[in-house]
Amino acid sequence: MSLPDFAIEAEGLFKTYPATKTMPPKEALRGVDLKVARGSIFGLLGPNGAGKSTFINILAGVTLKSAGTVRIWGRDIDKQSRDARAAIGVVPQELAVDVFFTPRESLEVQAGFYGVPKAERRTDALLAALGLTDKANAYVRALSGGMKRRLMVAKAMVHAPPVLILDEPTAGVDVELRRQLWEYVTELNRQGVTIVLTTHYLEEAEALCDTIAIVNHGQVVTCQPTQALLRTLDSRTMVITPAQPLTAAPALGRFTGKLNKDGRLTIDFKTAETDVETVLAAVREAGVGIQDLAIREPALEDVFLALTYGADETIA
Ligand code: ADP
Repeated sequence: MSLPDFAIEAEGLFKTYPATKTMPPKEALRGVDLKVARGSIFGLLGPNGAGKSTFINILAGVTLKSAGTVRIWGRDIDKQSRDARAAIGVVPQELAVDVFFTPRESLEVQAGFYGVPKAERRTDALLAALGLTDKANAYVRALSGGMKRRLMVAKAMVHAPPVLILDEPTAGVDVELRRQLWEYVTELNRQGVTIVLTTHYLEEAEALCDTIAIVNHGQVVTCQPTQALLRTLDSRTMVITPAQPLTAAPALGRFTGKLNKDGRLTIDFKTAETDVETVLAAVREAGVGIQDLAIREPALEDVFLALTYGADETIA
């Protein structure tokens, strides 16, 4: 059977949570179209309440959509729900591991739950892949936070799904553990697993994801290859190391230079309004010799703010 081009295809996805006694109905997803290419590490970014978990929960089969279609690995979640379910592994947001099992037992129980025959289980391979071989028979209670997270990833992979979904996997995890976890996730991706993750760590999405979708108020604001997304925000900063130390920022005509503590001169400009040559000309005009020069692109954080800025105020 040929492999699908897209690991996930969602079209016209809507979700309205019904009203409760105290709350009006909530439209959590309002016409989401998203395609995740096979082999991708796909980042779903958005502020709290944007609808990320709702989207993931629909994929996972734990939340029912109100309208739209979803295919996972080419299988319709309504018409081929079993096959669709078999194609994804989901790592939930909260740390949920059974403290009474060892990692090995935990994976065996999970495999049993998925109906994976004993002969097809890959417990040892998964323990090795997630760096848990040494702890295979330890009490889960004795595992560090990072190991518990990795055990959760291993549990999501027992049925060898081609798609792995991680909902805020590194929330509250320290930098070192985060880096470690991402190494394992990247390795799974190298082995061919398509990864979809939600995260608030924007710089991390920038470093990890080849494609990023930004959602806000239940809609996709943008979905682009990471580099293209970074280019959509056209602010740049020219960073100049002067040939001779400056004592103050020089006057640069219509540009504003800032002299930093490290002696470098920074000038913000927009590529839509001006080009690098024009900025450089202003620097030369001011008599500043250039020892070194770099152009800084905006961080994803800035792109994110620019794309979603103001939305909170305009939509009740
Ligand atoms: P995110 O994961 O991006 O933070 P969610 O998908 O959790 O966003 O939530 C989207 C919106 O739907 C929010 O306004 C949230 O309050 C609402 N919501 C989420 N789950 C429920 C639920 N079970 N019942 C009612 N409203 C919900």
